Amino acid sequence: MSLRTIPFQEEIGQQLQEVIKGGRIAHAYCFSGEPGSGAMAMAIEMAKALFCMQGDGDACGECANCRRIDHQNFPAVQVIDASESPSIKIEQVRQLQDQFSYRSIETERKVYIIYPAEKLTIAASNALLKFLEEPESQVVAILVTGAPHQLLPTILSRCQILSFSSPPYLTRVTRLTEEGFSPEIAHLAANFEADYLKARELCEADWFAEVRSLVLELIQDIFNKRSDSLWLLQDRILGHPQVKERPAVILQFMMTWLRDLLQVQCGRESSVSYVQQQGILAEYAKRLNRQQILHSMDIVLMTRRKLESHVNQQLALEWMILRLQEG
Ligand SMILES: [Zn+2]
Repeated sequence: MSLRTIPFQEEIGQQLQEVIKGGRIAHAYCFSGEPGSGAMAMAIEMAKALFCMQGDGDACGECANCRRIDHQNFPAVQVIDASESPSIKIEQVRQLQDQFSYRSIETERKVYIIYPAEKLTIAASNALLKFLEEPESQVVAILVTGAPHQLLPTILSRCQILSFSSPPYLTRVTRLTEEGFSPEIAHLAANFEADYLKARELCEADWFAEVRSLVLELIQDIFNKRSDSLWLLQDRILGHPQVKERPAVILQFMMTWLRDLLQVQCGRESSVSYVQQQGILAEYAKRLNRQQILHSMDIVLMTRRKLESHVNQQLALEWMILRLQEG
């Protein structure tokens, strides 16, 4: 990856490359974009580009510095990633300042990335503000946020703001197919992941296509009330190492299939995700009535809640199969 190759954000990438090449780097940036827009990926590439040993204003991804930053093993680049925590506290900002004050850091230039910046508490924001005001010329701050209006105006006014727009669903699907992935895999991946780069990872993963096929088999077994559906689940689906780690993916495949059935019933065949299953979808859309489909969706949702509350995954999924077979 590099500044210029983040999908849909090539223009911003090029702009930043020119800024770095020309040495006109601002002290603080606000990369404003929904999760999945590429704003966070751009922040990392920007940090790499600032330290890249090739020195053409972009990140080569190959040199020692680029690699160390990728592996979060480069003291002059610090990332506060609070995507999984409720807030960013003042201690975290102070820790960052302490880290940057160590003399042992090899370079004068330092970069920190805060994501998502709207999670900064008021106290943390005020501490950060002092940091932004320091005349330390070589520190670059990149605040990544999906909600810039939630940042303190005093912080925002010190940042150069770059807006990342998220590409719509069909644009993402088209791009994935242009990259050579099958339309059905592209639809499913774009459906599961709004983040284009994550969707592309799904497309590239063998397990994703394998589990898709297994779930399609399971669906046939369930709705034809075959007795071997439990065996298929236990042996081949849950036996799949990638599914064991994320059993909810089975439910995502099933839910998408049920949603597709509703689309077909409403005459919106062009909106389905399982684009290669048109024949089977048409058959089931005739066999099952709307009520049955909605009821099945309820069962899948209940199963998801069971998995979220850490009920034994096999029991939860077996329960789902039996309930779906009851109809
Ligand atoms: Zn490099």
